[in-house]
Amino acid sequence: MQVPLLDLKAQYAAIRDEVLAKINEVLDSQRCIGGPMVEELERAVAGISGCKYAVGVSSGTDALLASLMSLNIGAGDEVITTPFTFFATAGSIARVGAKPVFVDIDPKTFNISPALIEAAITPRTKAIMPVHLFGQMADMDPIMRLAWQASLAVIEDAAQAISATYKGKKAGEMGTCGCFSFFPSKNLGGIGDGGMVVTNDEKLHHRLFILRNHGMEPKYYHHCIGGNFRLDPIQAAALLVKLPHLDSWSAARRKNAAYYTKKFRGSAVQTPFISDGCVSIYNQYVIRVPRRDDLVKHLQSKGIGCEIYYPVPMHLQKCFVSLGKGAGSFPESEKAAQEVLALPIYPELTDEMKDCVVNAVLEFLS
Ligand SMILES: *Cc1c(COP(=O)(O)O)cnc(C)c1O
Repeated sequence: MQVPLLDLKAQYAAIRDEVLAKINEVLDSQRCIGGPMVEELERAVAGISGCKYAVGVSSGTDALLASLMSLNIGAGDEVITTPFTFFATAGSIARVGAKPVFVDIDPKTFNISPALIEAAITPRTKAIMPVHLFGQMADMDPIMRLAWQASLAVIEDAAQAISATYKGKKAGEMGTCGCFSFFPSKNLGGIGDGGMVVTNDEKLHHRLFILRNHGMEPKYYHHCIGGNFRLDPIQAAALLVKLPHLDSWSAARRKNAAYYTKKFRGSAVQTPFISDGCVSIYNQYVIRVPRRDDLVKHLQSKGIGCEIYYPVPMHLQKCFVSLGKGAGSFPESEKAAQEVLALPIYPELTDEMKDCVVNAVLEFLS
């Protein structure tokens, strides 16, 4: 039996007619930039994130970039973040001319270790960018305390964690702002690229709002140098159809996760650790296993999809060699990169498919 890592066709089949009808509304209106659907999606995503404001943008990467720009972070500034993340986190910091300052992860959650942040703060530090990896929020209370003490902004990279909670607070709600991605593989995925920034700060919202459109207000009067970071209304249309399903899809992922975790009990598989007070949306179900690379080959031979998120931590990427952090600088991130493996967790998996995944993993380990 073939089990792909993700099957977007299964999800689309259930909502196809609705998505097509909504896209047709955009096409018939010929409001091809911005418009009511983008605004409706912004209100809805702000609402589910416990935030007053939201600004739709062109991608999760641009959400991070626009956030940094709107906070005036640039050359000479430092931003503290995790090396165990998708490239866009560190990439966006470098693109505004600031320096990514890495802090190692908590090996249990894979998220930035708050205990290590304080030592990384310098007079140049302007912000902390925690990543809510795989769908579980980082340990935000100590992060917010440190940020408050040192007057730092907190930009939540919540690309993988829309609607996840930490002690009852939503992803994006606790920081200065929160950044979401609608990349198709995220829990709320568009039919192409898209993203959003949420915030409770009215001034920041306004800066983001004009920054995504060349810093322009009114037309042809430019306050600051922004860019074209606008969210496409066709993406907004598809996302408006999908948004009401987000909670049930995330619940189905949690159910699949519980199923796997139960079946792996007593084996050499280290299953995901969810901290007290956290509700994960399981954008990924990531295990640690011995001889990980051999397991990948075994699963591939059985037609089971899997993926390594992420094989090379940011400090060891070629493009960040100039930061001068060689091998051994962040041992937990480096160890995680050797041991992690994401298994299929998407909502439409059947029990038969999950058993197939579990049996293939256990067969390899025995
Ligand atoms: C997906 C992702 C991004 C970037 O989002 P895009 O929409 O692909 O630009 C940023 N950070 C993390 C942690 C992500 O997983």
